[in-house]
Amino acid sequence: MAIRDRIGGVQIGGRRSLTLAATASGKEKSPLEKCRHPSVLGADPMNLWKHYHNAQTVTDALQVLAEAPGRACLIAGGTDLMLDLQQGNHPPVHTLVDVTAIPEMTALEIREGELFIGASVPHARITTSPLVREHAAALATACGLIGGPQVRNTATLGGNVGHALPAADGTIALTALDAEAEVASLGGRRRVPMDELFLGPGESSLEARRELLVGFYLPLRGPNQASAFKRVMRPQGVAIAILNAAVWLQCDDGRITDVHIALGPSGPVPRRLRNAESVLRDQPYDEVVVGQAVKALLEESSFRTSRHRSTQAYRHHMAGILLEETLALAWQAARERISR
Ligand SMILES: Cc1cc2nc3c(=O)[nH]c(=O)nc-3n(C[C@H](O)[C@H](O)[C@H](O)COP(=O)(O)OP(=O)(O)OC[C@H]3O[C@@H](n4cnc5c(N)ncnc54)[C@H](O)[C@@H]3O)c2cc1C
Repeated sequence: MAIRDRIGGVQIGGRRSLTLAATASGKEKSPLEKCRHPSVLGADPMNLWKHYHNAQTVTDALQVLAEAPGRACLIAGGTDLMLDLQQGNHPPVHTLVDVTAIPEMTALEIREGELFIGASVPHARITTSPLVREHAAALATACGLIGGPQVRNTATLGGNVGHALPAADGTIALTALDAEAEVASLGGRRRVPMDELFLGPGESSLEARRELLVGFYLPLRGPNQASAFKRVMRPQGVAIAILNAAVWLQCDDGRITDVHIALGPSGPVPRRLRNAESVLRDQPYDEVVVGQAVKALLEESSFRTSRHRSTQAYRHHMAGILLEETLALAWQAARERISR
């Protein structure tokens, strides 16, 4: 089903348009508007794209993406892209290629000993999936916190990763869970570790007109393993978190035998905090070791002040607390699984 049907289109001038698309006014521009993409300023919002293609297969999507006569880009739920187009943070496009009706991109299943989640699976389905809750609890929690019910019904995991923000909730969870993305081009397919998918804020390493995310492969959870996700959000916040953390760990009697930590935004891209992981690995789970891990995490993180969310100092103050709490959740879950 196309995005326009899923989020409710309205009929304007004989043509369906998104209810998300605001009306451009000819009134005086705000300072923010003056910074926006010049080709959008004063533009008719109906002209933000010319052609909308509902792809039926990955090859179909890639062909249209490559052959469109003007700028083309992928769209899934549209909850990021539509706003960016409408607000002038993304230049208008000739062709939007909708990938939500491609069957292999909406699969969620166990495949040859791994959990596969298609890039076009919406967050609502991920958070309620028994398979995801069993094998990737951090991801189920993260997807369940994204936006509100309307956003979760529409927005997808692939879109969350494709937007490449350093604190996107689903992306941070996938990073700690050691997921690999399946990337398709007309030349073939490859698997890319989450760590290698990003170049900078809002910039993925995919070739824009040549590649797309088909889905994500995650290891199945072992008997002494568990994961957890937690975030710090503004009380009225609906979009990106002030801070978020995901922890995957493996334990034996009283010790952490292996651990992965992702914290967003701890730098320009979603990433693992490998020094903090090294401090914890093969160590007892106690206050002293966790304190050393917090110290390592703060040293290897680079926080910044963001106008709408938080100061750098607040992030620095909260990051250690968030790590302690997320670690405790994962530890408790792993211990409970051992004692079952
Ligand atoms: C009200 C509101 C609240 C939100 N709250 C949160 C939140 O709490 N946490 C959070 O992390 N995010 C939040 N978001 C942001 C957004 O909803 C998520 O990032 C969502 O997962 C984006 O998915 P989408 O399918 O809508 O992506 P789209 O908007 O369709 O696409 C986003 C980007 O990804 C690209 N893309 C899409 N699919 C693919 C693919 N298969 N391969 C490669 N590139 C692709 C698109 O070209 C585009 O650049 C919120 C947004 C809104 C509007």
